[in-house]
Amino acid sequence: MYTWDELERSIVNCGRCMLCKKRIQAVPGKGNHSSQIMLVAEAPGKQEDLQGIPFVGPAGKVLDILLTSAGLNRKDVYITNIVKCHPPGNRDPLPEEQETCMQYLRAETTLLHPPIIVCLGRIAAQKLISPNFKISREHGMWTHRKGYWMTAVYHPSAILRDPAKLEEAKQDFQSIISKVREIEESKYPL
Ligand code: SF4
Repeated sequence: MYTWDELERSIVNCGRCMLCKKRIQAVPGKGNHSSQIMLVAEAPGKQEDLQGIPFVGPAGKVLDILLTSAGLNRKDVYITNIVKCHPPGNRDPLPEEQETCMQYLRAETTLLHPPIIVCLGRIAAQKLISPNFKISREHGMWTHRKGYWMTAVYHPSAILRDPAKLEEAKQDFQSIISKVREIEESKYPL
């Protein structure tokens, strides 16, 4: 069992898969360690590799718009990735890279124990919710597994490529807020 500091140190020094060879730096998760919401994307991008912080590039600006639309900001959530190192050429992380790095996501989940896990994009959803997950058809739907409420929304980069997805993503973020309220109300019924 890690502490948050031990986990961060392990990630920044990790050489367990080939992604360590080309990265500038590993990108540990960041955010509120008491949050009810863990956002999980697939991998750090180029800007994240340069700065060592998740979602600092253009996709991060879209994420901020989505958070703001739901009355949230970065301090309200915890943001991480399936793999913590930038895949060269921005390719998708390979299944074996994802599996090797999952130990860190499992540790983050154990430390945070969030009631809600939100997958940002298809790859995270296929890893965490279902291998056949279709993001265009199933985004915004909820599933309850092993004590976690899980959903997926469009990856902010997909919204950058197709801004028409922004409104749907905002609605999905509203449903995250509704889920937070539902969980609160079930803990403290009137
Ligand atoms: S992607 Fe994960 S497992 Fe691979 S080197 Fe980076 S931190 Fe280690």
